[in-house]
Amino acid sequence: MFSVKTITLHVVFLSLFIMVQNPIPMVDLASQYQKIKKEIDQAIQTVIDDTAFINGPHVKSFKSDLEKYLDVKHVIPCGNGTDALQIAMMALGLKHGDEVITANFTFVATVEVIALLGLTPVLVDVLPDTYTMDIEAVKRAITPKTKAIVPVHLFGQVADMDELMEIAEENNLFVIEDTAQAIGADYTFKSGRVAKAGTIGHIGTTSFFPSKNLGCYGDGGAIFTNDDSLAEKLQSVVNHGMKVRYYHDNVGVNSRLDTIQAAILSVKLPYLDQYNKSRREVADYYDRAFSSCQLLKTPYRSPQSTHTFHQYTLVLDQSVDRETLQSYLNEQGISSAVYYPVPLHLQKAYRDERYKEGDFPVTEHLCENVISLPIHTEMNEEILKYITDHVLNFLKSL
Ligand SMILES: *Cc1c(COP(=O)(O)O)cnc(C)c1O
Repeated sequence: MFSVKTITLHVVFLSLFIMVQNPIPMVDLASQYQKIKKEIDQAIQTVIDDTAFINGPHVKSFKSDLEKYLDVKHVIPCGNGTDALQIAMMALGLKHGDEVITANFTFVATVEVIALLGLTPVLVDVLPDTYTMDIEAVKRAITPKTKAIVPVHLFGQVADMDELMEIAEENNLFVIEDTAQAIGADYTFKSGRVAKAGTIGHIGTTSFFPSKNLGCYGDGGAIFTNDDSLAEKLQSVVNHGMKVRYYHDNVGVNSRLDTIQAAILSVKLPYLDQYNKSRREVADYYDRAFSSCQLLKTPYRSPQSTHTFHQYTLVLDQSVDRETLQSYLNEQGISSAVYYPVPLHLQKAYRDERYKEGDFPVTEHLCENVISLPIHTEMNEEILKYITDHVLNFLKSL
């Protein structure tokens, strides 16, 4: 039998261990792998045995597995989520000077490819609840040069696709959904119809970066569409602009999903719903623990979209010093992160005379006050209690 003293000591050592040896990570890919190790190792070994490294049979079978899962006509696998966005814009035939509207509060990739292709990024603010595109701002941003809208389903929640598709139709615009953070999310239209995120716009894109909700063990990405002729163009762009070998119809790129990655993804896809469910359970725990705390705002959940909680992101009251909270958590062995600290219009690379500080109040407020806590498929109550207790202790001490 342990005496109370030994137990207390044990707890002290546990926290010491967490602090020094083993900080609680934002994601835990190692533990997730351990649970499916046999299947994964076997899948990788098969690819090596077959030496089918490029465009092997696993790429085709993953493509059709994902088409079935998403209920979409075409999945075009590619090298990563950034390529996916670029290829989408190339396949739509967007040209120098065309304007593309996207959300200011996002990962840089979304705007990077717009700039790379010589298109003109037009930034809009996000909504203070879902952190997705402000529909009214989109309407105001449309000009005769606008060709496409790129909503980002940020942190795992789908933008207002009913409204966006309506605006797009009225103005003859394409919609590319950046689904890198929301794969598996269900969107319910006003009509009651339900569709997977990424299959609603003309094109959807995603990333299989290891830490994404469906992550591979390296780089990977995919593009979705229900449009046969767009699918044909996308397929040609990913493969050097050719349909027939060595006959190049348009300028393309070389962007392939590696066969080993495809084999890994085919093992992981059947677990995706379970993975998203366990992320939602983590979010539920956080929500409950923080429900009566006035100094932070827990994530809003849109009634139209399931939330895949790629990130669990709190908005701190302005009286809370984020850096001090982060270093306190860090001292306790708890990781935290800021997605994203600087709005696109204030980034050095994307400064533009059209925009100045103060033009995007919601985005700017979020960049200054958000903090994301660890969320992944392998968390347990003990760890969650440890994290929430420390966050609340810090806030109480203010
Ligand atoms: C991760 C991510 C991307 C880019 O994906 P990569 O595979 O890293 O190129 C694009 N957009 C968003 C919103 C992302 O989160």
